[in-house]
Amino acid sequence: MPRPILATIHPAAVQHNLERARRAAPDARLWAVVKANAYGHGIERVFEALRSADGIALLDLAEAQRVRQLGWRGPILLLEGVFEPRDLELCSRLSLWHVVHCEQQIDWLAAHKTQVPQRVFLKMNSGMNRLGFTPGRYRSAWARLNALPQVDEISFMTHFSDADSARGIAHQLQAFEQATQDLPGERCIANSAAILRHGGAAEVRLDWVRAGIVLYGSAPDHPERTAAAWDLQPAMTLASRLIAVQQLQAGDSVGYGSRFMADGPLRIGVVACGYADGYPRHADTGTPVLVGGVRTRTVGRVSMDMITVDLTPVPDAGPGAEVTLWGRAGNGALLPIDEVAQAAGTVGYELMCALAPRVPVTMD
Ligand SMILES: *Cc1c(COP(=O)(O)O)cnc(C)c1O
Repeated sequence: MPRPILATIHPAAVQHNLERARRAAPDARLWAVVKANAYGHGIERVFEALRSADGIALLDLAEAQRVRQLGWRGPILLLEGVFEPRDLELCSRLSLWHVVHCEQQIDWLAAHKTQVPQRVFLKMNSGMNRLGFTPGRYRSAWARLNALPQVDEISFMTHFSDADSARGIAHQLQAFEQATQDLPGERCIANSAAILRHGGAAEVRLDWVRAGIVLYGSAPDHPERTAAAWDLQPAMTLASRLIAVQQLQAGDSVGYGSRFMADGPLRIGVVACGYADGYPRHADTGTPVLVGGVRTRTVGRVSMDMITVDLTPVPDAGPGAEVTLWGRAGNGALLPIDEVAQAAGTVGYELMCALAPRVPVTMD
């Protein structure tokens, strides 16, 4: 028998979440962001659930090829654009739209030999300071692109640093609007947090929105608002089973570094899941976990292949009992990935993306 750990992807949840994102930005076209292998879920596994998207956005050219191989004929956007000149040939061949964020990418386009002009999204650095032209250089970049026969339609794009939190988007929105207001073309600025939290504003929804984490059922602004409060459903369940049970007495410790010490009799279960499966090692004692669909907590340090859990709320649970690390238990109980991430000092994004290759994956 294989080790009992299993990840389950829920396409129906992805489809629900896509519709949820649409409701928040009903008049915009929606890019389904599937970078990082659909945030760890597997592009092929979520593809059917995303069919109603208006476009597929990603970073990696090999992933773009996979999406075309799946039969996707609609737009595909390379969110970081091309990485070297010959990538432009693949853009022509596969009809990929691409972001232009620096002068070098314009140089490459100017030198590119193509029969078919390419659709580009000109990226503004409106305050994030990762990719893009600053507002002061944006218009000249546009003018350069606009003069190239290699370039078809030019759209305008920026990315928010604080759409999920108190600082918000107003300062970046203002910079973007000022520099683009009289330029002709479509706009694309909102990520998941902006769609959910600021989608009520027409200047945020614009022509296109970019939905990433929302599709996978994690709240971009947890714990301020939970996935359930946003009406999002978990797209991934990570489950395993108890493989052993130990009875501790007062003063007994558990695991490496004796991080946890029992202050009285305590039954604990040993779960076949560790950091080599993608469970976060920094999840300290007290991280929520479901045993038989009943909420309890981890105790002690996460090791490579195992974690240990408090069985007090489930006195009947023994070896073989179902354990839900995140997602949906057999009895329907939910454990949001965001709660586990928070206990480990990180975000749901990281846990999804870090699901380890050794974990078998199925779909329901
Ligand atoms: C990843 C990414 C997104 C999606 O972000 P979410 O927070 O997951 O919605 C949007 N835009 C760009 C440029 C990205 O790289």
